[in-house]
Amino acid sequence: MIECGCGKKAVYFRRNEGRYYCKKCLMDGVEKKFYRTVGRNKLIERGDKIAVGVSGGKDSTVLLYLLKMMQKKKGGFELVAISVDEGIMGYRDKSIKAIGKICKKYGVPHHIYTYKNELGFSLDELMCKKKIKSCTYCGVFRRYILNKKARELGCNKLAVGHNLDDEAQSVLINFVRGDMLRFQRLGAFPKILDDKRFASRIKPLRNIPKREIAAYAIIKRFKIEEGHCPYSFDNMRRDIQTMVNKLEQNYPGTKQQIVNFYDRLHPMISKKSGKVIGTCEKCGEPSSLRVCKYCELLEKIKN
Ligand code: SF4
Repeated sequence: MIECGCGKKAVYFRRNEGRYYCKKCLMDGVEKKFYRTVGRNKLIERGDKIAVGVSGGKDSTVLLYLLKMMQKKKGGFELVAISVDEGIMGYRDKSIKAIGKICKKYGVPHHIYTYKNELGFSLDELMCKKKIKSCTYCGVFRRYILNKKARELGCNKLAVGHNLDDEAQSVLINFVRGDMLRFQRLGAFPKILDDKRFASRIKPLRNIPKREIAAYAIIKRFKIEEGHCPYSFDNMRRDIQTMVNKLEQNYPGTKQQIVNFYDRLHPMISKKSGKVIGTCEKCGEPSSLRVCKYCELLEKIKN
C-alpha cells in the first residue's frame, strides 16, 4: 500500500511535489489553498453580499461548498447562488437540477435565469437557426446576465469557479491574442473596473488545480452532473489547454509557474483605466462603448 506522509492510504499523487496524499490530507491541502487565496487577495470582507455563479460542475459546486463552510466558520458575509440556463437540452438542465439540490442542502438561496426569458431564445433554438461561433456569443450573454442579476440581487461581488488550469490558459490565450485589456483583468481579484454597477469578480479557486478540485468533489461525494456542451467551439482555448497539459506532464508545476509569473507581472502592467465607464444607449447597462457587446451581438443575431 502506498502511504501518505501521515501513514494513511494514499489516494492522490501531487506530481510537482513528488508526494502522495490520503483523502484527509488532500482535502486539507485544497482548503488551505482556498483560504490562502481568499486571505492574501482580500477577496471577502465583512458586509459583502456574494453571488456565486454555479453551473453544477465540479468547480462551482466545490466553490459554493467552501464559501458556505467559510461563512459558517467566520460569518460576516451573505451568499446567494446564481445559475444561467442557456437552454441546452440534456446538458445544462441536468446540471442545474443537481446544483439546485446542493444549494437546498446547504441553505443557499438559488436563482436561475434563462436565456429564453432574458434574450427571448434558448441556445438550442439559436444554434438551430444560425451558424455562429457559439462560445463567443454565449460567453458574452452569460457574463452580462450574471453581472446584471448579481447587482439586482444587491451583491457587490461575484464569485466564479475558475481554477488554476483555467487561469493559466487565460494568461496564455490573452498573451497569444495580444489582448492587453483582458490580460490586465486576470488575477484572483482584478478590480480594474472601479464602477459600482459591476459586481467585482473574485476567483477563490484560482490556485487549485482542476484535478484536485475533481478529487475533492469525489471524496465529498457531491452529486455532479457534468456533460459536454454540444456547441463548444473555443478552438484557441482547447489548443492552449492541450499544450499546457502536455507541459505540465513533462514539467510538473508549469501551470502554477504561469500563474505565479502573471502575479509578479501584474503590478507592472495593471493600472485603473481612470476612464469613467459610460452607459449603453440601448440597454442602460455599463459599457465603455456607445452600445455594449451584449446589445451588439444580440442585434447581429436579429439581423
Ligand atoms: Fe456556451 Fe460555449 Fe460554454 Fe457551450 S461551451 S455553454 S456554447 S460558452
